[in-house]
Amino acid sequence: MTETLHRLVYYSRNHTSGEDAVFSAHIDDILAKSRINNTRDQITGALLFNAGCFAQVLEGPLPNIEAAFERIQQDDRHGDVSLLALDPIDTRSFPNWAMGFVGTSSVDAERFADIGSSSGFDPSRLSGDQIYTLLRNLTIEEEADA
Ligand code: FAD
Repeated sequence: MTETLHRLVYYSRNHTSGEDAVFSAHIDDILAKSRINNTRDQITGALLFNAGCFAQVLEGPLPNIEAAFERIQQDDRHGDVSLLALDPIDTRSFPNWAMGFVGTSSVDAERFADIGSSSGFDPSRLSGDQIYTLLRNLTIEEEADA
């Protein structure tokens, strides 16, 4: 039986050290683990970090997304995890990304200057739709540059 695809969007606040090297190591670790688990679980999506906040889109079979989100919520590297959207979808928007990572480069900051200036680059002030659109546009740009 084919599982119905769903898309989940949340944001959270970083709880790891602000020191660049330590933070980079945490991000590397999170992305490496995410790419292994998400490939196994048929989950695709993207993760944004900006202004001390994470925002993430996960898409895939509903039980797999719910299990991943349970684990993510228990991770003490971030907190104040807020679910913004969980909706059925017809097709994936991040088919090539077991977990893309965007938002930290100055180029990315310029790309989302419009939405950023209205929110102060604060994902907690964006809706689920805005975060989804932002991440989709940033990953499309990344794919075009690759
Ligand atoms: P293991 O890797 O065996 O980890 C066991 C436990 O240790 C887990 O509770 C884990 O949270 C904790 N843990 C492991 N390493 C550290 C560390 N360095 N510091 C603190 N606690 C640690 N996981 C996904 O599978 N897919 C995702 O898309 C995803 N996105 C994430 C986004 C963010 C912003 C964050 C902070 C985490 C994300 N994770 C994601 C990681 C997730 O929170 C779990 O750590 C991971 O799924 C656990 O994988 P595992 O069950 O194989 O357990």
